[in-house]
Order: sequence, then structure tokens, then C-alpha cells
Amino acid sequence: MDFDQHFQRALAQLRTEGNYRVFADLERQAGAFPRAVRHGSNGPVDVVVWCSNDYVGMGQHPKVLGAMMEALGKSGAGAGGTRNISGTNHYHVLLEQELADLHGKEAALLFTSGYVSNEATLSTLARLLPGCIVYSDELNHASMIQGIKHSGVEKRIFHHSDPKHLAELMARDDAKAPKLVAFESVYSMDGDIAPIGELCDVADKYGALTYLDEVHAVGLYGARGGGISERDGVAKRVSVIEGTLAKAYGVMGGYIASNTALIDAVRSFAPGFIFTTALPPVLAAGALASVKHLKESQAERTRHQERATSLKRMIAEAGLPLMPSPSHIVPVLVGNAQLCKLACDELLEHYGIYIQPINYPTVPVGTERIRLTPTPNHTDDMMRDLVRALRDVWSRHDIRRAAA
Ligand code: PLP
Repeated sequence: MDFDQHFQRALAQLRTEGNYRVFADLERQAGAFPRAVRHGSNGPVDVVVWCSNDYVGMGQHPKVLGAMMEALGKSGAGAGGTRNISGTNHYHVLLEQELADLHGKEAALLFTSGYVSNEATLSTLARLLPGCIVYSDELNHASMIQGIKHSGVEKRIFHHSDPKHLAELMARDDAKAPKLVAFESVYSMDGDIAPIGELCDVADKYGALTYLDEVHAVGLYGARGGGISERDGVAKRVSVIEGTLAKAYGVMGGYIASNTALIDAVRSFAPGFIFTTALPPVLAAGALASVKHLKESQAERTRHQERATSLKRMIAEAGLPLMPSPSHIVPVLVGNAQLCKLACDELLEHYGIYIQPINYPTVPVGTERIRLTPTPNHTDDMMRDLVRALRDVWSRHDIRRAAA
């Protein structure tokens, strides 16, 4: 077999569909975010980043950087081993305690990313429960889908954020089978928010465990940044809360928080936790500082929400097709993969505005979009420049008509 030819053909197909991913070569500038330097064919150019998940700029917060520099000096670069074999550093222990407290749970467990925490936990929990059935929201993230798939257990897909459909599916199954319901709080591409309490009502009725991905909500919602489950006063009702340290907390790593027995089971049986080197202490130290700060400070959350509201208003006033979103995520419909990529290329090349196009398979065909994530550091001027540039590009390519 000509392997290269085979791969090239698959890639050519992606290009034809407008779904081939091109990475922007960025140099982040600590202290200047959301400004960054982009390295392109014409050399380095300043850009404003509009699609970062460093949602409140904690990636450059002085407390986070200070904690990381101190830990680097004290503990060096890497963890030096798996958690079991010499890799557990005191920063990991402190961070796990902090995260358990954040969510009002007995214990927490760190992973190298949010992706790994979902994959490792869901595959392990479902596998440990004989005859388990997993109920998964149809828009769950790829990491949850992979975890459920790798568990090898029966799964049912319920309509997005639909407790009634979940109840119908659960009612059809063996009442004695152990059950697990997996869903997210803030869905990252539409920005909609799940009815956590109602989904828990259904899960409780059928005696099911609940697994909630709060990746796009931790640090951002709730009085201490505990996510939507904290904001809505339902954290106690959720069996497992999963989060990331890479988005609002600005660093890297993932975690779950739950009761002691469940955490100990995942710690003891999940290959994705056991057989990999622990997070570098420096990352744990930075995340610890970030979680602590956002537990106490409301300033970032308040300004973040205000910026999102202002941007939505400006986009709507400009007559651009803002998609409805009750959260900090601001999606604008393009509705065509090639146009979405073209629009983003032009914004980058001609306006110094960096937005990554969101195309299939991340979103369904026909709903291709740009996904804006205003942060507390995006100024009014930046917003005005953005809206002006969007209007130019939209009218130049008649994007509204293409989407219709
Ligand atoms: N869960 C959801 C809903 C996500 O959107 C993502 C990443 O974007 C993850 C999990 C993975 O988190 P991480 O980036 O920490 O691996």
C-alpha cells in the first residue's frame, strides 16, 4: 500500500470541504493578552486574539506567574514520575484539596488534561459497574464520548439538555441496572446551559450516578467559581464534577471531584491516571494560585460577563447573525465551511484579528460559525474594531445570503 498517497487523499478531501485545520503560529505576550504576535509568511505581526479559552486572562495573572516561578525554582521542571512512583508532589496534594473544597466534595483527583479526566473517569467508572448503562447528552464533548466508548458498556444518547427524553430512555431499561448520566454545564460551541437540577431529578428517580463536565464554567460562575452547579445551588446533587485548569484558570490539567470511595476507585483503576507522568509541580502550583484567587475575587467574573453582554449587543446592533447564548460564549453564524475559513483568513491578514473558524465535525454542517470569547482584557476599542471588520467581511462576501 502507498501509505502517503492514502493519507494525502484523506487530507485533500478535508481541504475540499474547507475543514483542513491550519494552526496560527502565535507568540503569547504575558502582560499584553489578548494581544499576541503572529508569525506568518510576512514575518511577525501583532494581532488581537478573539478565540482564546484563557477566559479571564489568568494565564498572565501576576499571582499565577509568581507561584509558577517560585515552584520552578523550588521543584524544577518535571514531576519525575507517575503519581504512584515518585511523581506525587506536595503541590498536587494541595491542589486536590483546594478543588475538593471548591466543589464541596470529599476528594478530588488531578489528570494531565480535562480530556484525559473525562476519558479516564468515564471509561473506568462504567467498566467497574457490572451491567452499567450510560446516558449521554447528544452534544457531549469528544473526550466524554471516547470515555464511554472505551468502557464498552451499553449507552443511550438523550436529546440535548432534554430531561423528558432522558426519563423516557431510563424508563425503558432494566430498573436494576446501574446507571450513569453524563452531561455538561456550559456547552462550548453554542454557549447554552444545561438544566442540571432537572437532569438530576430524573437521574435520582432511577438511582443513577451523575457526571457533570464543568470545563467551560469553572472559575467563571458561582460565588467561588465552582461553576454552574454552584451558581444554581445543585453541586451536592451531582455525583462527579469534572473541570479543567486550562481555560478560566489559565494553566493546564484536568480533575474530578466527588466522594472519597469514587475518587479512590478512579485513582486505583483508571489507566489514564495510573500509567502517565504526573503534572509538573510548576503547573500544579500555578493552578493552585489561580483557583485560590478566583475563589475570592469577583472582579474577573463581573467584568467577564459585562464584556460578553456588551459584545453581544454591539454585534446584534451591527445586524450580524449573533446566535443566542446565555453565557460568555458569543457565536456568530456563517453557515458555510469555506466562507467561514475565508472570513477568518481575511480577518487575520487584513485586520490583525485572530479568530479560528469553527467547522464540521466540531459543529454540524450548515452551522459553521465564528466563536468569540471576549475576556475582561478586551477593550471597547478592540470590540469596535472587531465589529467594523466583521461588517466589512460579511458584506464583501454576502455571508448572510450564503447562510440562508
Ligand atoms: N470538556 C469539554 C466540554 C471541552 O470543551 C474540552 C476542551 O475544549 C475538554 C473537556 C478538554 O479539556 P482540556 O482542554 O483541559 O483537555
